[in-house]
Amino acid sequence: MEHIRCLIIGSGPAGYTAAIYAGRANLQPVEYCGMQTGGQLTQTTIVDNFPGYPQGVDGNQMMIELREQAERFGVDLRDGEIVKADFSRKPYVFTTDRGVELEADSVIIATGATAKYLGLPDEQKYMGQGVSVCATCDGFFYRKKTVAIVGGGDTACEEAHYLSGLCKKVYMIVRKPYLRASEAMKRRVEEAENIEILYETNTLGLYGKAGVEGAHVVYRKGESEERAYDLPIDGFFLAIGHKPQTAIFKDAIALDEQGFIKVEGQNQATNVEGVFAAGDVCDPYYRQAIVAAGSGAKAALDAQAYLSALGK
Ligand code: NDP
Repeated sequence: MEHIRCLIIGSGPAGYTAAIYAGRANLQPVEYCGMQTGGQLTQTTIVDNFPGYPQGVDGNQMMIELREQAERFGVDLRDGEIVKADFSRKPYVFTTDRGVELEADSVIIATGATAKYLGLPDEQKYMGQGVSVCATCDGFFYRKKTVAIVGGGDTACEEAHYLSGLCKKVYMIVRKPYLRASEAMKRRVEEAENIEILYETNTLGLYGKAGVEGAHVVYRKGESEERAYDLPIDGFFLAIGHKPQTAIFKDAIALDEQGFIKVEGQNQATNVEGVFAAGDVCDPYYRQAIVAAGSGAKAALDAQAYLSALGK
């Protein structure tokens, strides 16, 4: 079985930064990049708030450059996923999606998070036929059309703003009477002429023959002003948050009630010795590329200290 000193799982800003640090520290890291190499930032447009890019940077480009930087330090970057993890004995044993087993002395979990759905049967019914969780991936298909996006956070605002540049009209479906997003993001959507915010509104379902033609929505559900109506749209986007990708770790690694990996104290250590977590997989709160990158650096330094204490 292949033996790895430092296995890194995931290739977002956290995974790549951990890889850069681990590579420079000569831990001979092997990084499994997962199904979506580069992670969530490959689905965004401009990243404006990562220090060092005065004009902003294309998310995809940033991830390509991070990958190149990891390559420069000899990181063994591999396509594919880790689908099974066994922490019951040391070294820990992992299985790839090709059925290959490998063992590792230390592990950095940086598997990130994936988009959440409302849980309506119609979301599955119209998947790829008008329902999307990625405006920057699919917005192009709705040029000059009318779309709705659900959510009132920074992601929803960012994506609504992006869609407003392509589409004739963008509705934001927001369940609260206010946007949760930052002031800058709020301003962006409020100033866009073709964005209309539907506050205190929930989606009940979608309709359409061959694809989405509209959404059944309700204003102030359960109150005296309750009003259900149909909103004609061509595309339905979701931006209601993300869930951490921790399913394969849940039996051994301590998670919080939402499924995020718990890291406690100053470092990125989990409850299992030699296993560290970084990025959105352990961050329900900040979820920023710069924070993910910072935690990736910390996780690699922690792994280095752990291995060195063991004399490995
Ligand atoms: P958030 O959790 O911040 O927002 C989720 C939004 O979806 C909220 O408005 C929430 O409503 C709504 N929502 C959740 N579940 C449902 C539901 N079942 N039905 C209807 N609406 C629902 O997630 P984001 O992805 O927007 O942001 C996550 C983190 O990433 C945040 O910290 C954010 O600041 C950050 N971020 C920063 C960016 C930037 O700075 N460039 C860009 C994107 C994200 P409610 O308010 O009622 O709970």
